Amino acid sequence: MISLKDHFKIHLPIAKNGIFWNGKPDEFSNIYHNLNYSQQFGLTPFALTGVYGQFNGKPRPHNGHDFASNDIIDIVMPCKGWVSYTGLDAGGYGNCCFFETETVTENGDTVKMEFVLGHMKELPIISVAHWHEAGEKIGQMGKTGFSTGPHVHHGGRPWLKVGDGWQYLYPEDGARGYIDLTDLYIEKPIYNKQDLINEANYMAIIDKKLIFNNDTGEIGWFYNKKLRVPKDIDRFVKMLGSYLVSKEGVNLPDVDFDKLPREEF
Ligand SMILES: [Zn+2]
Repeated sequence: MISLKDHFKIHLPIAKNGIFWNGKPDEFSNIYHNLNYSQQFGLTPFALTGVYGQFNGKPRPHNGHDFASNDIIDIVMPCKGWVSYTGLDAGGYGNCCFFETETVTENGDTVKMEFVLGHMKELPIISVAHWHEAGEKIGQMGKTGFSTGPHVHHGGRPWLKVGDGWQYLYPEDGARGYIDLTDLYIEKPIYNKQDLINEANYMAIIDKKLIFNNDTGEIGWFYNKKLRVPKDIDRFVKMLGSYLVSKEGVNLPDVDFDKLPREEF
């Protein structure tokens, strides 16, 4: 069977000021303080309340991931996808967008992912029946549908090709084929040149951005448009604590580190 993790990689479906946020959700609230990973996948305490109710006699799990914020947040494509539906869903998603990835075939199995993003403020602005790239704006975070406050619901389910049709890769289990996406979220944030150009903007959003230079092994972060390089890497790593995703945390493959202004601390 196809390893979904190897083939389907997704960003967080959220952006602010044109900046596309990366990272895995459990690390997210540590790094970006104006956004919360507000509900995980599965039998969360909230999902067990009467609001969600039952499905086929079993408790109905929360079948996606919720990110909440009181700020104005753009909802963006978390990966390249074919937008199959946008509209106001009566079933609870509110203003929502469904899209599908390209298919992947391995050892005779053909699989694709279907994603949904819900609760947007207004009807999505993205065109239906078109391919869209990761980062393209779909709409703005809202609280339409079944929602106790502004957040985006991000669900995903894999489909398996069977003959001429498609069926859930995972059988009906109350989550209607939806899976925990945590493993699919891109673990290593990748920053590109445009991010650096937008640095001033970016720094207004987050106050620490860890970077790592694969060529030299240097580690540091950007502050005031300078690369801050620690004199003592071990001390720096300790100091970062939970901010540190991994020592290889962030790659900047396109950046010429030698040309960056820098300061030691
Ligand atoms: Zn949700």
